[in-house]
Amino acid sequence: MPLLEPTPRDYRSGFVALIGRPNVGKSTLINQLVGEKVAITSPVAQTTRNRLRAILTTPSAQLVMVDTPGIHKPKHLLGKRLVQSAKSTIGEVDVVLLLLEACYLPGRGDSFIVKLLRQQKIPVLVVLNKSDLVREEDYLQKESAYRELISDDKWPIYRCSAANGEGCSVLIEDLVDYLPVGPKLFPADMVSDQPERVILAELIREQVLIQTREEIPHSVAVTIDRLEEITSDSSRKVKKNCTAILATVLVERKSQKGILIGKGGSMLRTIGQGARLQMQNLIDGPIYLELFVKVVPDWRCKPARLSELGYEVY
Ligand code: GDP
Ligand code: MG
Repeated sequence: MPLLEPTPRDYRSGFVALIGRPNVGKSTLINQLVGEKVAITSPVAQTTRNRLRAILTTPSAQLVMVDTPGIHKPKHLLGKRLVQSAKSTIGEVDVVLLLLEACYLPGRGDSFIVKLLRQQKIPVLVVLNKSDLVREEDYLQKESAYRELISDDKWPIYRCSAANGEGCSVLIEDLVDYLPVGPKLFPADMVSDQPERVILAELIREQVLIQTREEIPHSVAVTIDRLEEITSDSSRKVKKNCTAILATVLVERKSQKGILIGKGGSMLRTIGQGARLQMQNLIDGPIYLELFVKVVPDWRCKPARLSELGYEVY
């Protein structure tokens, strides 16, 4: 039996929540810190629906990062659930990373979040993200504006780029100081606590958002109906091992179904190809992906339907 590597006595482990307005780069930062794509990102706001835990294991610590949906003013039932989920996350972690955008001056949404965090007695580190998009002199101006916003709080500010990794290693080192001493909470090689099915569905949803842009905004959900490893079998004429994935994309209106399928099925093919490329980073070997589109009117406003799709209130 192999000897288990002993955990150092001063090993640290704990939870880090990423909080911020939609689109500030929370999911991108998680992927950058973990070094693998576990969270979906997109130029369209409000991409993240499920609370995802991504795990970063180093020789001295294990950080479990919780990606939260962006905090914003809820417009419909789904929006309300997303905000509740973000708020309850703050109460369950050791330290919060507050993400702000270095390329903009603070806005009303930012002060809403700062006030919300102030009410909780929890350490906060501020990440001024997207530093790659600003010039040096502009950065200093933006930083002092954000310093003013968080004036009463002793929150340190980090200049970061989730896209190119600038500032990320210092950030990880400093985060570790806020975690309690304790053993690993997850196996060292685990990078996400989401089941494979959820990540696969998210990769499809990401492609829908990227390929259709504003046309199919947030009224889409994806379910994985079948996930099967097919082994080579001469009787079934399958030559190679592959993973077969059958998935359904749910939309609210018939017109959206039309856009998703596209002329002669061209849009759905593009979405499928994009998703398959991303899936290949996750699953070894070839992937057979088949997508269906189904109209379920107003699924976002029906609590039972939301729960069925896995959007639970925690
Ligand atoms: P979230 O809603 O906070 O999770 O934001 P995402 O991680 O989905 O990012 C929103 C958009 O900003 C995506 O298009 C990202 O590629 C982009 N983005 C995130 N971080 C950076 C960064 O540091 N630099 C640049 N240039 N773009 C970024
Ligand atoms: Mg996100």
